[in-house]
Amino acid sequence: MINTNEILKKYGLRLTKTLGQNFLTDANIIRKIVETAEVNENDFVLEIGPGIGALTARLAEKAGKVVAVEIDRHLMEPLAETLGGFGNVQVINADIMETDLTALTAGWDGPLKVVSNLPYYITTPIIMNLLESDIPWELLVFMVQKEVVARMVAMPGTKDYSALSVAVRYYSEPRLAFHVSRNCFIPKPEVDSAVVKLKKRSQDLAEDVDREFLFRVVRASFGQRRKTLLNALGNQPWLDGGKERLREVLQEMGLSGDIRAEALSVEQFVHLARQLCKKTP
Ligand code: SAM
Repeated sequence: MINTNEILKKYGLRLTKTLGQNFLTDANIIRKIVETAEVNENDFVLEIGPGIGALTARLAEKAGKVVAVEIDRHLMEPLAETLGGFGNVQVINADIMETDLTALTAGWDGPLKVVSNLPYYITTPIIMNLLESDIPWELLVFMVQKEVVARMVAMPGTKDYSALSVAVRYYSEPRLAFHVSRNCFIPKPEVDSAVVKLKKRSQDLAEDVDREFLFRVVRASFGQRRKTLLNALGNQPWLDGGKERLREVLQEMGLSGDIRAEALSVEQFVHLARQLCKKTP
């Protein structure tokens, strides 16, 4: 196991809060993350934010190939030391939000997994970017703030159910893997974390529905959470047929006019978007 304090001292590293630099120091948690991702020698693993490589090294022991994208150039030298012994690891100094994921994974025809202790300041954009990307991932394993995991795995009708829950469930079968105490990191973050496992859905839920339109509907529906769906979505200027058309569709679906977004399942959102997309006669 890499000695975090030793490496930080040796390279005179000051961890940057704004980059979400809370490094994992608990070998048991690292082992459990790798186990959750079921990493084996056929896998290509993309790691976002390797830090000084504590998780990367364990991934490299099991995977066929690991590509780790790290934004902080000060970590390149320490990473060269901690990962120097592995022939199957490539470290790229880049911002994951600016990285061409398709180019990164091109040429690999085996299983593709993404494993990351995500930087907290940019969790949702990174997750959405990956979910919506065209790379053929089969499994995503993320450690994030535990409240975000609660939103990712939330079921309709619960307080945590949100646009993120719908997006996650649209693309995957999400499962809370385990909780992680704040004491497992240097420096200690102000929040507790959890690991979530997203398994790609075997079938597209809505091949016939425009994805962009679907998520426009979802975002508008949750945008004003306390309002009924009729008021939150029905008043959107881009909605063909407006409130009247929405009322009709809800009726066809057997849903009451005062229903709120949080009561609708992913399948119901898909159906709603499909019907709303159709041109009104
Ligand atoms: N994987 C290490 C571990 O578990 O100890 C570090 C995890 S730390 C929570 C997040 C890492 O992501 C940091 O090393 C940070 O510099 C890096 N990072 C932050 N923003 C990034 C971005 N936009 N693209 C790539 N890496 C980023």
